[in-house]
Amino acid sequence: MSDQYQHRAARSFETLAIHAGQEADPLTGAVVPPIYQVSTFKQDGVGGLRGGYEYSRSANPTRTALEENLAALEGGRRGLAFASGLAAEDCLLRSLLVPGDHVVIPNDAYGGTFRLFAKVVERWGVEWSVADSSDPAAVRGALRPRTKMVWVETPSNPLLGITDIAAVAEIAHTAGARLVVDNTFASPYLQQPLALGADVVVHSMTKYMGGHSDVVGGALVVNDDALGEELAFHQNAMGAIAGPFDSWLVLRGLKTLAVRMDRHTANAERVVELLASHPKVSHVYYPGLAEHPGHDIAAKQMRAHGGMVSFRVAGGEQAAVDVCNRAELFTLGESLGGVESLIEHPGRMTHASVAGSALEVPADLVRLSVGIEAVEDLLADLSAALG
Ligand SMILES: *Cc1c(COP(=O)(O)O)cnc(C)c1O
Repeated sequence: MSDQYQHRAARSFETLAIHAGQEADPLTGAVVPPIYQVSTFKQDGVGGLRGGYEYSRSANPTRTALEENLAALEGGRRGLAFASGLAAEDCLLRSLLVPGDHVVIPNDAYGGTFRLFAKVVERWGVEWSVADSSDPAAVRGALRPRTKMVWVETPSNPLLGITDIAAVAEIAHTAGARLVVDNTFASPYLQQPLALGADVVVHSMTKYMGGHSDVVGGALVVNDDALGEELAFHQNAMGAIAGPFDSWLVLRGLKTLAVRMDRHTANAERVVELLASHPKVSHVYYPGLAEHPGHDIAAKQMRAHGGMVSFRVAGGEQAAVDVCNRAELFTLGESLGGVESLIEHPGRMTHASVAGSALEVPADLVRLSVGIEAVEDLLADLSAALG
């Protein structure tokens, strides 16, 4: 462990979010990293690179600032920033898997992750099977001799299932497989999977990390230097990097991640209270509820429960669609994690691609990304939408 790393590790999350990787610019003293909107860098004689920069696919100073910040926030040693969450996932899968390898994926995965396995990676001979990752015994039962990777999402999308990261890490490692955790819903402020035994953390930075619905990006974070090198080689070889402006937007978002997540959680708790006692709601999915099956594990591995809430509408599919259409302040739209509240119907929107598979979601399900507006306004809008 380098001195610099120990120094960073001693600081608290909120401080790292604002400072890690973001020393004042040596040339001008600019207190935030400038947007180095540039493709190539002058060399001082052949091979004489200034600060190691030669070409922005390989490395760019704004992206480096973000990548160092990502590593610090997840308590890892190497962070890598990509053009989208799925670009990060694609890089990870093609870096570590070869034909014949097998991956265990959760029965409650992000639709795009499922599509990547089922419609893309499978064509290259990578096998996958589905298990309920909230049940460690089910994950153990799904392992095969060539299982190289166990993939989990916790909390999961859209049913807010909770996986015991430490338990599943042990199961994966005993079988010689790596554990990958998609930490998008929690963000590193609420949960740090590497410390719980995960080998790779995946993020869609498009969501809480960016936090303002104005950028698409993805990240991988690891705490093993050799694995970090291997991923960095493939990041450059395949090329789906985060650009300088997108990197800058995510850095800007990360500075307020902690305060935003606190407010997202506080607002979500009030929304859950309203939904749980509402006659038109048949079920609420939120790990903060004592009756949620993952409540105790969430309490063990998360700082708080975050801003995502799903619920089922008693009247069925059309009633659920009507609630989505009637909401006004909750904007009807895909995605999540921005400051503004969003509502959507997973069965017809984000999760349409898993229809008919083991990952199909209930037709009467509505998903909320609870924003940081005044909670009274959010409650009034939801009450009106429920009718
Ligand atoms: C959005 C999302 C992704 C994919 O990220 P993109 O940035 O849209 O490519 C992956 N996992 C989860 C949990 C997501 O919500």
